[in-house]
Amino acid sequence: MKLNLGKTSIWVALIAAVSLAGAARLSRICGQTYLELGSVAASLRARTASSGSQILFAKTNRRLSLTPEKKTGFFNNVRLVLNFAPVNRGGRGYVSLLDWNKSLLPLMGDRSDLRRPVGTIVIDAGHGGRDKGASGASSHEKNITLRAAGKLADRLRKFGFRVFLTRSRDTALSLESRPAIAAARRADLFISLHVNSATDRTINGIETFCLTPSGGVSASASKPEYAAYNGNRYDGNNMLLAYRIQEGLLKVSGAEDRGIKRARFAVLRDAKSPAVLIELGFISNRAEERKLNSGVYVDKLVRGIVNGILLYQADMLGK
Ligand SMILES: [Zn+2]
Repeated sequence: MKLNLGKTSIWVALIAAVSLAGAARLSRICGQTYLELGSVAASLRARTASSGSQILFAKTNRRLSLTPEKKTGFFNNVRLVLNFAPVNRGGRGYVSLLDWNKSLLPLMGDRSDLRRPVGTIVIDAGHGGRDKGASGASSHEKNITLRAAGKLADRLRKFGFRVFLTRSRDTALSLESRPAIAAARRADLFISLHVNSATDRTINGIETFCLTPSGGVSASASKPEYAAYNGNRYDGNNMLLAYRIQEGLLKVSGAEDRGIKRARFAVLRDAKSPAVLIELGFISNRAEERKLNSGVYVDKLVRGIVNGILLYQADMLGK
């Protein structure tokens, strides 16, 4: 790992992107631009501390806890997978500028630049028709997502949102047509519901995906990719929405937290609004498959997602 602390002047243009001009200290680490957290703490009224085992960045009710050299951290106790591992150098914590701008500042900042109030929501039940999705011992993903989508739509309507489904029956639908339906409905949010599967049947829990930013590393990849998609216009909102929903789901379900992750799924790439893809649990795990087929448990998950959307809406309204 190479560290150059002297070359800050050439990063003036990037400092502007941090919108904390003058204060931010940037360094080049492992081919990426990194931001020293101490240099932006005061402007956000946050405290920061760093050691070989932990990097903290906190203010009132928001707390970021990272581990040097590890991509997985926590925001308010919700697991978060970063694009690049943070580092500790001489008692100072550094995060990649990409993670700062696209993931951490939307969570830690005042969010006023992200305000896009929500009126219309499109819910996408993953798979359908010939495409069964993942299968467990006694059920298919396509049926679990359809039931959850219907319940989620009903509950969101009770809170006054206009809600549309990409499919309301067991029909096949291409990946491209799903964000296209959301665009035609002028959705302010796109929520895609899926169920996970793994060969290791002990694996269980919930994860929420949002689109990988340009230059970022998807959860399943080892290297950055630089393509930019329509959905990348909402990088900050995508992260805030993913956080609110993952937190909401964890609070009601007691499920394992597999984290907020980044991926370039087709339904997220083409989104014309903030969008997330939720993996509600593992159909390959017997106990979780039973829960995903229980009305009581799905009602809990729906309540968690709605709570998350309501908190996101409060963020959008500046409440
Ligand atoms: Zn799926």
